Amino acid sequence: MILDKEVLRANLDKVIWNIEEARVGLSEHHIVQLVAVGKYTAIENISTLYSLGQRAFGENQVQQLKERSALLEELPLQWQMIGTLQKNKINNLIDLRPSLVQSIDSLELAKEFNKKLHTKEHTMNCLLQLNAANEESKSGVSSEEAFDIYQEIKESCPNINLKGLMTIGAHSEDKKLIQQSFETTHSIYEKLEKDGATICSMGMSGDYALAIKCGSNLVRVGSAIFK
Ligand SMILES: *Cc1c(COP(=O)(O)O)cnc(C)c1O
Repeated sequence: MILDKEVLRANLDKVIWNIEEARVGLSEHHIVQLVAVGKYTAIENISTLYSLGQRAFGENQVQQLKERSALLEELPLQWQMIGTLQKNKINNLIDLRPSLVQSIDSLELAKEFNKKLHTKEHTMNCLLQLNAANEESKSGVSSEEAFDIYQEIKESCPNINLKGLMTIGAHSEDKKLIQQSFETTHSIYEKLEKDGATICSMGMSGDYALAIKCGSNLVRVGSAIFK
């Protein structure tokens, strides 16, 4: 469905306002990046959102990222990959040169990704995905292993520029459980900041204000904008 520009403007303003309120509550110096997730929306809505000032967009499928970045090539958008990455799609993804790949969810994937980057003589900004609530349905490394795996990727994958962590909040109605998964992620992120980590990606439409209160500095918001 193609959304009216004024509808998108109102939705975007509301999200920006909520982000602003949450981040200033934490600290005036706490800057939060908004990544608009367009995976379920029409491409026309992405160009409209661009005309409203939005630059960073997330997609969860390599094929969709490829089609959209090609169709919107003339716009200076920052594309980010946020979805589970299959090994046979790595080469395609590298060729698209996303500004950030948020979904490196295992050491094995990191090594494979690094190998392909090395062959193509590229480096890429990536995040390590954490399965903070240890949910069966989610990919990502466990909170117990995250710190060590992060260090190992840094040491053994020179073509991966590891920038921090990404997590999806616990799938629950219970706010406390969601908050716990954000706090776990943020406490690991704080340790990694000493090694230069700068991005703590947490929060989606239902929980981005809570995520920011827990220290997130990148939120991935889809349905709250494209509705
Ligand atoms: C779809 C998706 C989002 C956005 O979800 P909404 O609830 O629509 O805001 C954020 N992060 C990831 C990894 C996603 O797959």
